[in-house]
Order: sequence, then C-alpha cells, then structure tokens
Amino acid sequence: AKEQGGTQVCFYTDEINQVISRKVLLESGLRTAIERNEMDIFYQPQVLTNENRIVGVEALLRWKHPKLGMISPVEFIPLAEETKLIGPIGEWTIDRACRQFAHWLSQGAEVEQLSLNISAVQFLQRGFPTTLWSILKKSGLSPDRIVLEITESVVQDTSLCLPIMKELKEMGFQLSLDDFGTGYSSLQYLKELPLDIMKIDKSFIQSVPFSDKDKAIVETIINMASLLDLKVVAEGVETVEQLRFLQERHATAYQGYWYSPPVPEDKISENLLIENS
Ligand code: C2E
Ligand code: CA
Ligand code: CA
Ligand code: CA
Repeated sequence: AKEQGGTQVCFYTDEINQVISRKVLLESGLRTAIERNEMDIFYQPQVLTNENRIVGVEALLRWKHPKLGMISPVEFIPLAEETKLIGPIGEWTIDRACRQFAHWLSQGAEVEQLSLNISAVQFLQRGFPTTLWSILKKSGLSPDRIVLEITESVVQDTSLCLPIMKELKEMGFQLSLDDFGTGYSSLQYLKELPLDIMKIDKSFIQSVPFSDKDKAIVETIINMASLLDLKVVAEGVETVEQLRFLQERHATAYQGYWYSPPVPEDKISENLLIENS
C-alpha cells in the first residue's frame, strides 16, 4: 500500500511537472514568437444574415510553436496577459491587421469593417486609446472601420472602463461586447456603456434549433439588442438551420464554419476581391 501511495505521488508530480514545463516552454517561446515570425493572423468573414454579403472580417491570432506545434489562443492569450506580453503582441496584431485591411481596401474590396479582439489587460492598460490611435494612423484607415471586441471581463468595473470606452467612441471606433451571456452579465451596463454591437457566444448558437431554452435565449438577446439600438452578431454558425433561425429573427450578421472558418491572409483576400467584383 505504501509503495502504491509512493507511485501515486510520483504520478501526480510527473503530471504537474509536465504542465509546468509546458507553461515554461510556452512562456519563453511567447517572448520571441513575433521576432521569430511564428505568429500569424487568420481572418473570418462576418456576413449579413439577410443579404449574404461580407460586411466585415474578424482577425484571429495564430501561433505555431517550433516544438509544440499550433497553440490555441485560448491557451496563449491568458499566458500573454499574465506575463504582460499582451502589450507588444496585441500591438503587433493591431498593426498588422490594420495594414492588411487597408491594403484590401486599396485593391477594391468592399468589406466595411475590421474586428479586433482586445484583451481586458490590454484595454485597461494606461494609454491604450492613444497607442491604438497612433497604430491606426500609420495604416491610413478611418477609425469607424474598426470594431473593438471586448469581453464582459472588461466591463465588470464600469468606473474603470467607461472613461476609456467614451474616449474610444469619441475617436470614432466601434465597440462590440464579445461572448455575450457567458460571463457576469448585468443589464445595467448594457444601458450605461456606449456599445455598438453585441456578439452572441457560440455556446448558445450551437444547440439552436434543437434546444428550446437556447432558442429562447438567442431570441431574447436579439430582441434586447434591437430595443437598445445595438447590432447583433452571432458566432459559431455551423448549419443552415442555425442561419435560418437568425434570419427569421433579424440578427444583423453572423460568423461561422457554415460560411467560412478563419482562413489565412491570402485566402480571404481572394474571397473578398472576388465576392464583391
Ligand atoms: P472569440 O473572439 O470568441 O472567437 C471565436 C472563436 O470561435 C474563434 O476561435 C473561431 O476560430 C471560432 N469559430 C469560428 N467559427 C466557428 C464555428 O462555426 N464553430 C466553432 N466551434 N468555432 C468557431 P479561436 O480563433 O481559436 O480563438 C479563440 C479565442 O481566442 C477568441 O474567442 C478570442 O477570445 C481569443 N483571441 C483570438 N485572437 C485574439 C487576438 O488577436 N487578441 C486577443 N486578445 N484575443 C484573441
Ligand atoms: Ca471575438
Ligand atoms: Ca466567443
Ligand atoms: Ca472571446
């Protein structure tokens, strides 16, 4: 029995060691990922539900670690936040995506807006609006082309985020509340904050139209958004049934594998230029 216990301890220690060494490896890798050219941006179209026209694209960061392979942003973004590397990584992403988007426009793409995910840490960092503005100016894009997707973790403390949101709105940016319904939701902030768009999280879309509860939730979010004069974008649309459901209820736009997964720069650029020509 004693021996068994010993093995168990060993087993757990091994597992913990593995988790720690992966974390250490990722952390040190993250420091050099940009200079080593390991980061890439994929783009996913946002499509108007009732016109079948691409209205925007969302930039989604990709990291290929030399030893560990593709790492999901769900894993490395929190790590980047912990280590404060989210600053430089976030700025690199904004800069690259804006310049790419400006290039598409110059080639005649009729896409209207570029959505950027902004982590809570980055958003609440001192001077974020100014930094964003100076990156944007280099690209020549107008701020009303840019949608900043922020999560509920940003808006939890309104005294902290409201001045920043107001400053960004005055500059002309659009603000979108991402992952709506998954976090700490309060109807109070929907009323107080200067939002333009609400994004329904894919977890609600996934079981439409099979779950009556999720149908009711999605329908309620769409109705509430329209009462508050917000656009509503659904993510994770994988089937035509889900799309029909959203069309019938007049969601503004959708994203998902049904139309296209996130794809590399050159692939979406083909798509954007053919689509509207
Ligand atoms: P998110 O902003 O909620 O993005 C939606 C996620 O759903 C993306 O995962 C996207 O690839 C995936 N997706 C799109 N269509 C479908 C579909 O039809 N079905 C399913 N099952 N999934 C779909 P991804 O690219 O792995 O990104 C995960 C999260 O990482 C994002 O969630 C976002 O929170 C974060 N992230 C990605 N890029 C960035 C970035 O540049 N900056 C920051 N701060 N966060 C980022
Ligand atoms: Ca997003
Ligand atoms: Ca989501
Ligand atoms: Ca998110």
